[in-house]
Amino acid sequence: MDTSAYILSLADRCVKCGLCLPQCPTYALTENENESPRGRIALIQGWLTGELSPTDTLTQHLDQCLLCRRCERVCPSMVPYGEIMDQSKALLVEKTKSHFSWQSFVTNLSLKLLLNKKLSVAFISTLRLLQKTGLFVLTRKTGLLQIFGLQRLISYLPRLDKPVKTKNFYPATNTIKGNISLFTGCLSKQLDPVMVNASIKLLNRLGYGVYVPGQQVCCGALHLHEGNKKQATTYANTNINTFNKKKDSSHLVSLVNGCTSQLREYSQLETTASFIPEVKDIIEFLAEAEWPEDIKFKPLDKKVALQIPCSLQNILRAEDKLLALIKRIPNLSLDTIYNRCCGAAGSYFLRFPMLSDQLKEQAISRLNQTSPDLIISSNLGCALQLKAGLSQGKNTPQVIHPVVLLEQQIIQ
Ligand code: SF4
Ligand code: SF4
Repeated sequence: MDTSAYILSLADRCVKCGLCLPQCPTYALTENENESPRGRIALIQGWLTGELSPTDTLTQHLDQCLLCRRCERVCPSMVPYGEIMDQSKALLVEKTKSHFSWQSFVTNLSLKLLLNKKLSVAFISTLRLLQKTGLFVLTRKTGLLQIFGLQRLISYLPRLDKPVKTKNFYPATNTIKGNISLFTGCLSKQLDPVMVNASIKLLNRLGYGVYVPGQQVCCGALHLHEGNKKQATTYANTNINTFNKKKDSSHLVSLVNGCTSQLREYSQLETTASFIPEVKDIIEFLAEAEWPEDIKFKPLDKKVALQIPCSLQNILRAEDKLLALIKRIPNLSLDTIYNRCCGAAGSYFLRFPMLSDQLKEQAISRLNQTSPDLIISSNLGCALQLKAGLSQGKNTPQVIHPVVLLEQQIIQ
């Protein structure tokens, strides 16, 4: 079956019932059927059957999908919406010419700099230097960043501390249960070194030796969602080869919910092999692991709001695991749970700033309703989006990864 026929066979499962419409964030914002799951599926069917041309307008309706997959979760016909979109985008890229625009050139360049292992080290080191020397403020004031279209990306970056230089192996510090391999994601070591360190420490404390293979590369999710299936497949093959070499690892544990979803769905790419170790998100792995009895937590008398990332909820379907983990901490008062898209959505916050900002504001206003001390988020992209949306002040809640919080609360 060729790709068009394959996509149509998946899309034809949609019975146009519309049950997904109230769940779709872009439909809620625009009230436009073309910005809904049912509408997008109909556009794809129209294009692939030759009734519609792949115009810029049609492409834009597809591109404006957040790929949050909330629609997939509620669909009674189990339409594989994510796969339909990824396959369609790859076909669109193959069959149509994209027009040049400065904004997408800058966005693509930024992503290349961030997602390539070697380039990202150089790029983020330069930004770190600019932050440290105060030159950042100067570039912002002179409007230099605006000229290059980089101001939005830069405004999302946290204070850049020294990145973690991981070792190849971290031995268990408790009764040994086995070894696992860690997938850090391409940006975590640079942008969230605290979370990487906390995860390794906690896994060691639970009795697991942790491999962090240096040859691992980007998971390829953003490339796939942009229609670059070839690059996504190359990355997938490299990761599969790398992690399959760790023959004594029972699991491949991934630190970023979005990356875990992509690793789990490598079977949708034409890879040369598949993972031997079982792929688990750090949240799933910690929730399912047996915890040694000597691990006790300090009570936390704080008001907490929880943001559940779309990838954790709609793809991994593991929100109950996140809740179970957080509830290990005594006294923590969980007042708010927000489970709709925050608008970060991979590179969406750069490509569609207006829609992204509207979703960010909705998320912040809901999460802030109970004046929390902490906002928990288990996905790096969502955490950066929320931080960017919180006005800085004395009562600004801290955005924290659940693993960092757990590790902080352990009685040493
Ligand atoms: S819920 Fe499923 S079957 Fe119904 S319109 Fe949406 S995608 Fe189609
Ligand atoms: S993936 Fe999200 S934004 Fe896209 S159609 Fe489904 S619900 Fe709407």
